[in-house]
Amino acid sequence: MNYKLSYYQEKLDSETLKNEFIFYLKEKLFFNDKDIYLNKDRELSVEEQNLIQDFIEKKKEGTPLDYILNSSKFYKNDFYVDSRVLIPRPETEMLVDYINNNFSSSLKVLDAGTGCGCIGISIALKNPNFDVYGSDYSTDSLDVAAINKKTLDPKNFSLIHANWLSCFEKNSFDLIVSNPPYISDQDPHLSNLMHEPNKALVASDDGLGDIKLIVDQSTKVLKNDGILILEHGYDQQNEVTDIFKSNHFSNISTLKDFQSHPRITLGIFKS
Ligand code: GLN
Repeated sequence: MNYKLSYYQEKLDSETLKNEFIFYLKEKLFFNDKDIYLNKDRELSVEEQNLIQDFIEKKKEGTPLDYILNSSKFYKNDFYVDSRVLIPRPETEMLVDYINNNFSSSLKVLDAGTGCGCIGISIALKNPNFDVYGSDYSTDSLDVAAINKKTLDPKNFSLIHANWLSCFEKNSFDLIVSNPPYISDQDPHLSNLMHEPNKALVASDDGLGDIKLIVDQSTKVLKNDGILILEHGYDQQNEVTDIFKSNHFSNISTLKDFQSHPRITLGIFKS
């Protein structure tokens, strides 16, 4: 039985789903507006129907569209993603933007917990004079980041298997950036994030465990006057600022996201 596009469109019950479906048709089936809006009563091929059925089934399970398409837009580039890594978030682009707009001299930079590599690769592409490293403890993440390194081809980006900063020598970096796991295991938002890897989202100690580790370890590997920039939860500014203060950081400030939530804290390390 050959169904028409309108048959599937009528089955979608929310605006979000309808919009995601249109995006999917364009990206995966290469449909244009004419195919979607004017020719929606043409009979679909078996192959087209199979692809559409795949979308519908995955959406029924709540799979995010970026995982279905294996692609996520971040800082104007398409990153390969799958369920082994977190889907890059628009707020994280602010972190990259801040670095791109505020530093120009040659810097040695670490993106700790690089996931799909979105932060490190975006910084490396924009700043060819930087020497950028992306580290992760998860070899699954490193496999995904390696795909993006190959496709986007930054010449100044290397991947390292590391448990946060423990393997690096003293005075290794001018700048350390991270979007670490910072959600408490009690956070009710977790139920909406069940398709993403738990270890990329959840940290011990009410979500602050990994942030504490990174700040502490960064004092051993940052150069004097080196900078640490961390993304964190909208309600963690005070705690994160205190952690920076008690670890010899000065000029501590916090940047707000698009919704005016304090989400990125940075400080200068004075040895
Ligand atoms: N650095 C990656 C990102 O910002 C992964 C972050 C993570 O897994 N916590 O998307």
